Amino acid sequence: MKHIAVYPGSFDPITNGHLDILKRALEIFDEVILLLAVSAHKNTLFTVEERLQTLREVTKDMDKVRVDYTEGLSVHYAHKHGAVALVRGLRAASDFEYEFKLAAGNRYVDKEIDMVFFMASSEYTFLSSSTLKELHAHGESIASLVPEPVVESFKRKFK
Ligand code: ADP
Repeated sequence: MKHIAVYPGSFDPITNGHLDILKRALEIFDEVILLLAVSAHKNTLFTVEERLQTLREVTKDMDKVRVDYTEGLSVHYAHKHGAVALVRGLRAASDFEYEFKLAAGNRYVDKEIDMVFFMASSEYTFLSSSTLKELHAHGESIASLVPEPVVESFKRKFK
């Protein structure tokens, strides 16, 4: 039986921290669906199309990764696509509290889908999409924090 996991997120944009979690999840699962979870309540810098394009470019050589998006609940998506788990990353205690509640909510919706958490690698514990955007806005180089297609997407957005 193929073990599929879904890694949901806003990916606004995807960072090397996200990629680290994705690669580690690929060591455990047969396939990982990188799922852009679209939320109407969230203000994002990049549009859904821009984020999907970047996710596809970044993962184009990873044959066990699929990219998709949902406007619904990630847990519903996971069930519908035969996944056994949702993958998330934990950086600090503040992430824990949020993720703990999210996990309980997901379990309320569907007990068959479990959540699997990866601890952030030490070099990425500070890295979030928001920190990245903040650094970029203040003129800091982000090249060592994101894959090349993300650097390009920033250039397109701010040209
Ligand atoms: P969301 O809005 O759903 O939290 P994000 O794109 O911000 O979407 O994050 C998706 C997941 O990736 C979350 O579980 C988050 O904790 C995790 N994550 C984000 N950045 C890192 C990082 N640097 N290291 C490990 N996990 C991370």
